[in-house]
Amino acid sequence: MSKKISLKFPFMWLTQLSKLNPKPWDYFRVEGVMLNAYDILTKPYIDKKIREKKVHNYLGFDGYVTIDSGGFLFMKHNKVPVSPEQLVELYEKWKPNFAVSLDHPIFPSLPENIIKKRQIWSLNNIKTMVELKKSDNPVFIPVIHGYSRKSLEWYIKELERIGEFDIYGLGSLVPLVKGIKGVNGRFYKAIDLIKLVKELVPDRKIHVFGIGGSLTMHLMFLLGVNSIDSSSWRFKAAYGAIQLPGKGDRYITGKAQPKYRDLSEEDLAELRKCECPACTSHGVEGLRSSFKLRAIHNAWVYQKEVEIARQKIEEGTYQEYVWNLVKDNPVYRKLFKYITDKTSTLERWL
Ligand SMILES: [Zn+2]
Repeated sequence: MSKKISLKFPFMWLTQLSKLNPKPWDYFRVEGVMLNAYDILTKPYIDKKIREKKVHNYLGFDGYVTIDSGGFLFMKHNKVPVSPEQLVELYEKWKPNFAVSLDHPIFPSLPENIIKKRQIWSLNNIKTMVELKKSDNPVFIPVIHGYSRKSLEWYIKELERIGEFDIYGLGSLVPLVKGIKGVNGRFYKAIDLIKLVKELVPDRKIHVFGIGGSLTMHLMFLLGVNSIDSSSWRFKAAYGAIQLPGKGDRYITGKAQPKYRDLSEEDLAELRKCECPACTSHGVEGLRSSFKLRAIHNAWVYQKEVEIARQKIEEGTYQEYVWNLVKDNPVYRKLFKYITDKTSTLERWL
C-alpha cells in the first residue's frame, strides 16, 4: 500500500450533505466522511465557507474526508455546473484527503455507443484533472465505468496510460443493484464486474460507490472491496427506520405501511442494550421521535459493523460471520453463495 493511503481496510465513508444535519462525528468516533461537490456547489455560501476554513474545519472533524464529484447528480439534474479544470482548483482549495474525478456515469439501458461516449468523457476529464492538479493532497481517485470485460479492460488500460493511481473508484453499479429484492439477476452482474476489476487491477485499492447498506457492505467486503460509502444511515432515519445490528431495518415511528416491520419484543430487548450515544442518552423513545437520534444510532451501528468486519477478517472468521448474518434471508443467502462458492475471497485481505 502506498504511504499516501493510511486508511484501515475495509473502510466506510459516511456520506453527508453539506448542511451537515446531523454530525455523527460530534457524538462518537467516525472514521470517514464523504461530501459531494455537486451539493456544495449548489450552496454558494457553503462553498465559500469551505474554501475559507478548509473542509475538516468546516465539518469539525479530524478523520478522513473524501469529496466525490457527484457525477450521478449532475446527470440526474442534466447539468454540469463545473468543468474538470474548475473542480481541480476547488478540490485544492477545499482540501479533503481524497477527491474523486468528474465522471459521466452510465446505466445498463444506454446504447453501447453512448456508453462509449460517456466513458471517453470521463477519461478525458481524468486526464485534464491529473494534468492540472498541483499536488497529491488530495489523493485523486479516478472512477472506472463499464459493463463488460472488453469495455473494462479497455477503460483500465486507458486509465493506466494517464497515470498511476493507488485507489480506483468503481461507479455505475447502483443501477444494477437497485431492486435487489426483486427477481432480476443484476446484482449478480455487479458481483461479476467487481470480481473482474479485482482481477484486472489486483494490486490497487478499490472503492465501490453507492453500495453500502448494512448487509450489502458485507457482500462488498467479502468480494475484496476495500472501501464503500453509505448514505442509508441517514435516509433510512428520514423514513423512520433504524438499523438493528445484523438484522436489518425496523420502522419505529408508526408512520410506515404495515408491510414494514416494527420492533418485536426481542428486537426491543436488543435495542435497549444498544450502547450508541443516541440510545444511551434518549432510549428507544428518543429514536421513535427524532430523526437526528435515529441517524446517529444508524451511523453508529454501521461504523461498528465495519470495525467488526475488520476484526473478523483478521481472525479469519469473517466468512462465517457474514453467513450468520445472511443465512435466514433467501435473497442475501443466494448472493453470499454466489460470491463465496466460486472463489475464496478472504486471502485478498492478507
Ligand atoms: Zn442505538
